[in-house]
Amino acid sequence: MSTKPDLVGILYSILRFRRVGREAILEFQNRHLRRLLAHAYRNVPYYRRLFERSGIAPEDIRSVADLQAIPITSKADLRAVPVQDTLARGVNPRRLIAFRTSGSSGEPFVIRRTGFEERLQDLYWIRATHYFGHRARDRVASLRIFQEGDRRIRHALRRRLCVDCYIPPEKIVQILRRHRPDSLGGYPGTLSLVAEVIARDGCRDIRPRLVIAGAEVLTRRMREQITEAFGARVYNWYGSREFNCIGWECKETGEFHTCDDNVIVEILKDGRPARPGESGELVGTALHSFAMPFIRYRLADVVTSGSETCACGEPFSTIRDVQGRMIDRFVLPAGRFLHPGEIIKAMSDGHPWIGRYQIFQERKDRIVLRVVPRVEPTREEILRAEAALKAIVGPDVESQVILVPEIELGASGKFRIARSLVSACRDGSDREDESADQAARPVGGS
Ligand SMILES: [Zn+2]
Repeated sequence: MSTKPDLVGILYSILRFRRVGREAILEFQNRHLRRLLAHAYRNVPYYRRLFERSGIAPEDIRSVADLQAIPITSKADLRAVPVQDTLARGVNPRRLIAFRTSGSSGEPFVIRRTGFEERLQDLYWIRATHYFGHRARDRVASLRIFQEGDRRIRHALRRRLCVDCYIPPEKIVQILRRHRPDSLGGYPGTLSLVAEVIARDGCRDIRPRLVIAGAEVLTRRMREQITEAFGARVYNWYGSREFNCIGWECKETGEFHTCDDNVIVEILKDGRPARPGESGELVGTALHSFAMPFIRYRLADVVTSGSETCACGEPFSTIRDVQGRMIDRFVLPAGRFLHPGEIIKAMSDGHPWIGRYQIFQERKDRIVLRVVPRVEPTREEILRAEAALKAIVGPDVESQVILVPEIELGASGKFRIARSLVSACRDGSDREDESADQAARPVGGS
């Protein structure tokens, strides 16, 4: 009985899978799925009980097509049982690397992996960075939040510099000028703050060859701003602490190649698989997490389904777009939901005066767009943005565009493009306390 990821199979997939046919990937998924399920049934009490309750034996699931027989697991389900029940028998929790999810308040949720599993996961990220053009001898700078696991195992190489994204952007600029990275990574929010400082001070000596943004929404405006400041192409990737690499941006189509050999991604809309172009919630199965398995785990992200294989010719399926976390969905009157991604899409075209912004739900029936203008807008421009906002939120929700001098980072240190004061009963809900007392200058009517 295997209780460890299949090292040889994984190395092979990483080296070869960009050039194999789709069938090879499906075969790999099915084989590793069977291995994972047999392990989880035998060694992980939570999954053992889940299978028994639903009357399935691991042998019943032969392929990805059978996966739907297994009930979906949420973060709340895993939190509700003792930690030991979510881990494989025989692993010592104290010897695992622990990643705490960056929920701002709420109960913490800890994801655990062995050092071996974590290093294997790094290989999928490395494959993606190489696709983007990263080379082995590149100097790397990464703007991020430090985590316990990061300190223990990563970044032993001197050429790799981690910069705490909490420090002021002016300071980050100084550090980057000294380090001169070839490759720069970080959250879109931090990168665009740094880009603003660079644009303001006119310093043009931080010239990475590529910039990789991830972990939050990258708006078109942010992408332009970052491209302009660093004179480099910006790539986006998508992942989570539970699954690590879920997708990386295709250079040709702009969609995300799904990391099919690492995670089986299902996108569900009202419980059924979403069709291409439809948005739904992501449910994933981590093929190589054996110490703490995630099988049909609800990530609570909303994404748009893409195609079976990418139009560029690579054999990976695609995720067309990532809207963001379910938790960021706004609950509107009459039980309506609105994902702020819809507003982001509407604002990305035709409003060049809009710089950094935040979509803020003050009440169930009131949403404001807080904007830091790039240039002073005319009255007509503001009205046009308000009309676009109104068209999306609907007649029963009050809406307004408000100009603000700046937008603060959230408690987690990440920029949150959408925030809501309306609490809702959602899985993993960890709403941040927010006092709406930012210096705000209301303009226009609602
Ligand atoms: Zn592609």
